[in-house]
Amino acid sequence: MEKLAIHGGTPVRTKPLPPNYPGAILMGKEELEAVSKVIMNQSPFRYYGQNMVYAVRQLEEQMAQDLSVPYVLGVTSCTAGLIVAMKAAGIGYGDKVIVPANTFIATPGAVVSAGAVPVFAEVDESLNLDPLLLESVMDEDVKAIIAVHVSGSVCDMDAIMAFAEKHNLYVIEDVAQSCGIKYKGKCAGTIGHIGVFSFQMNKMLTAGEGGAVVTRDVKLFERAARYHDQGMFRDRKRYGVETDENEDSFAGQNYRMSELTGAVMVEQWKKLDFICSSTRSHYKKVRTALEELVPELVYRKSNDRAGDLGSNLGLRFETREQARAFTEAMNAELIAARMMYNGKLVFMSPQIMNQRTPETKMSPYQYPFKHPVVYSEDMCPNSDENINLTVLIPLSPILNDDDLRDVITGVAKVYKGLFSTVS
Ligand SMILES: *Cc1c(COP(=O)(O)O)cnc(C)c1O
Repeated sequence: MEKLAIHGGTPVRTKPLPPNYPGAILMGKEELEAVSKVIMNQSPFRYYGQNMVYAVRQLEEQMAQDLSVPYVLGVTSCTAGLIVAMKAAGIGYGDKVIVPANTFIATPGAVVSAGAVPVFAEVDESLNLDPLLLESVMDEDVKAIIAVHVSGSVCDMDAIMAFAEKHNLYVIEDVAQSCGIKYKGKCAGTIGHIGVFSFQMNKMLTAGEGGAVVTRDVKLFERAARYHDQGMFRDRKRYGVETDENEDSFAGQNYRMSELTGAVMVEQWKKLDFICSSTRSHYKKVRTALEELVPELVYRKSNDRAGDLGSNLGLRFETREQARAFTEAMNAELIAARMMYNGKLVFMSPQIMNQRTPETKMSPYQYPFKHPVVYSEDMCPNSDENINLTVLIPLSPILNDDDLRDVITGVAKVYKGLFSTVS
């Protein structure tokens, strides 16, 4: 048997795989030209200017078409978009929102910034919300669920929607990590009441920063547009909405997308098909080869294999020690592998665990809830288990056949080297 790099053997690769910033590594002259056009037209603002390019509008229209959803709103980030989504749904002080224990801190952070309080629900072997355990965090103050499609894998949306319907909850889909993902043929983000996308650097597509809010509901859309633009709904005519400008306004924010971001995103969006078909094809190749080579490997559970992006190969181990050992040995072979958030659930961050907010008087947590929100380190034991038993290996869209072969060879080498009793 080949000596593992972690034991002093020769690594499978001589240098690491290319970085997994799918959108950023595909940036080029298309984005440059699009941004140049906005600049040369001296028209960087979406709602007025001299020679308007309408890049943000173009992005919104293209997204609407490709996602099959009537309303899309460009915003400055997914965090802003989540806040916009909650405000559109009327969520704020005195409300609770269900958030998965495994997500980026932006998800619960946005809930707190919206004036509400996050309650954490378990994730299952898919690393996404466990629909069977939603009931256990439910009470009469919960107004919404944020379903996060984590690291390229889709949530069990049918079960989540059924639960939400039963309890009359809004479902907000956080698609930040999984732009392009589908569930039973439908684009994620369009299944719940509102979907939110991120165009930050670490996501599938990027303009450095940026985001989008999508919905089928015109009322939610109008409220989202108003909240993101100081209470105004400037595109009433574009959407044929005949509401009164002043009667329906409320105090809002400025979360408007710049034309510079819009221009980059129009070009990035055109690359989404390539990105998703590459990651799906990479995943299929790697998995098919591994099922042959290492039949005993167990894969991260999927709620829809065809819909998942395949942007990460998820392997499931029997013990935490095995998962850790595998991760370290893979990294020694120069094939990046990791546990989600290094095995830490989102509420372990001190600002969430200690319910720290910027307010000096009334924080969202001080609302006199009938069941006050109390956090503890061990409140989601299944999630802790699931993220620590699952190792993710990113499969960037620009991997070539040699790279894929290295991933396959590396997984087989390390798995056999660490766990096989026969050689
Ligand atoms: C990155 C991320 C966000 C935040 O996105 P920004 O555009 O950086 O605000 C929200 N939710 C999840 C699950 C994320 O991964």
